[in-house]
Order: sequence, then structure tokens, then C-alpha cells
Amino acid sequence: MRVVTDPGEFSALCRQDRCAGLITALVPTMGYFHAGHLSLMDHARSRAGRVYVSLFVNPTQFGPGEDLAAYPRDLDRDAALAESRGVDLLFAPEPGAMYAPDHATVVQVPALAEHLCGQSRPVHFQGVATVVAKLLILAAPSLAVFGQKDWQQLALVRRMARDLFLPTEILGRPIVREQDGLAMSSRNVYLTPEERAQAPQIRAGLLLVRERYAAGERDPAALRQVLAAHLAERLPLGAPDYLEFVDRDSIQPVAAADERTLAAVAVRLGRARLIDNIILAGDEVE
Ligand code: AMP
Repeated sequence: MRVVTDPGEFSALCRQDRCAGLITALVPTMGYFHAGHLSLMDHARSRAGRVYVSLFVNPTQFGPGEDLAAYPRDLDRDAALAESRGVDLLFAPEPGAMYAPDHATVVQVPALAEHLCGQSRPVHFQGVATVVAKLLILAAPSLAVFGQKDWQQLALVRRMARDLFLPTEILGRPIVREQDGLAMSSRNVYLTPEERAQAPQIRAGLLLVRERYAAGERDPAALRQVLAAHLAERLPLGAPDYLEFVDRDSIQPVAAADERTLAAVAVRLGRARLIDNIILAGDEVE
């Protein structure tokens, strides 16, 4: 596996692969890999002749007071893990290489950033859209693979790629979880043992909501109440940031839940802010 830090070099290597007629896939990440990241790499490997992983803790998607400085980093460990999954090229640029001192261009997808994480993290999705656009332009991959854990991000990247005629197919992959149901996240390392013990209740609450939907409940306010009550009782260390019911593609709140509805949650738990989601009519196995 080759590791490159220079955007021009990354772009040139990707171009060579394209010109050789290879199907190429990019997995954008912020590193500190866990099994969720590795599942995206495995999927990319199964679909493409060349697999690229970008590892970049993108400063523009962190707001003031967020965890940019504290975000966990371990390039050597990540490089070894990526190599073990058959990744061909790891692109790990410095912030200064991705953003010139006088950089002035941003990408916004406002309609997809109005709700959920867009509310509590106002600059977040502009940062995400801008950096993902840069990465997709540099690599011009046939495919780019994202996790459904960040469902809103996936929906927004899909819309951006379509709107800008980017020549990349955007793929979403299922959430990888710990045995007790907690969605894997690089930020789970922030949790104390007590917080970690309560964290799986986020998933448990979402499953409860899915059960109520299956039993016929369609009122988002009633479903929200089920989730809020569950979290208040079982996750007392957590403070919900949002509990929302939105259309899976438009990320707009629904008046009545249906098979396209996504239940999405963010909870502040100690130093961490954890997100999770579920399609109400989904049949994912536990
Ligand atoms: P991050 O490094 O957290 O920015 O995530 C990089 C990619 O991995 C994004 O597409 C995430 O949605 C995806 N990802 C993060 N956690 C998980 C998980 N538990 N399961 C599946 N994909 C994930």
C-alpha cells in the first residue's frame, strides 16, 4: 500500500489507474479506524480494481468548541489496518495541502442540511460537502463508499454528486455495531465506563420505536415520545440533542411516518456526541 500526502500526487496516481481502465473506489474517512471503516474498505475492495482511502480530519467541518484538537488520531495503526484490508493507496494530507491560506470556495447543499445535525452543527455540512467535493474531484473514482451511520451526510453527498454531475457512484453501507448494539464510532473512546454501559440504549430506543411503528403507530410526536421516555429512563447520563423523523432522501420532517421514514437521534453523552438512526420499516437483523 502506498501512502501519499500531496493532493497533486494523489490525483496523478488516480488518473493513471483510470487510464489503465481500472474501476476505482474511494472511501473518505477521518481515521482512527474501527470495524465500520473496515467494512467500507472491504466493500470497496469487492467492487473495484483499485481502492483508495482518504484519511483527513477535516477542520472545516468542526465548529468552534467542537473536538477538532481532541479527535483521536493514529496514522501508523490506521495504515496497517488499511493495508491488511487490501487498500492500494492511502491519502493522508495535511490541512494546509487541502486548504490554501486564501481558499475561498465552499460547497453547500442547504436543503439537506436544514435538520438533524445541521441544526446543532451549523458549519458542519458545508465543511463536509466542500471536502468531499475536493476528494471526489482529486480521485474521480468510479465509486465512493459511505456509511449509513452518517445517513444525513450520505444523502447530502448523493445530492451533491448528482447536482454537480460528478462522475462517481455514491454507495451507502449498513451501520456496523458493537455486540451490545452501540454503533461503532471513533468518538466512542471518549466515553467513561459508566457512559459506555448506557450508550447501547440509543439503539434499544430506536428498536422500540420500530416496534411501535410495526404495531401501527404513525404519529411522529407519539413515536418521539416513546424514544424520549426510553432515553430518559435508560440513558440518564445522556442529553438528547435531537430525536427526529425525516424522509430518508430529503431529510425533511414527516407529518406521518411511512416506509421511507428515518428515525434519527443525536445524544450528548459526557464528552461524546453520539448519533444513530434506523429506517422504521427496515428489516435489518439484530
Ligand atoms: P468518519 O471517519 O467517522 O468520518 O467516517 C468515515 C466513514 O465511515 C463515513 O462514511 C461513515 O459513515 C462511516 N462509518 C463510521 N462509523 C460507521 C459504522 N459504525 N458503520 C458503518 N460505517 C461507519
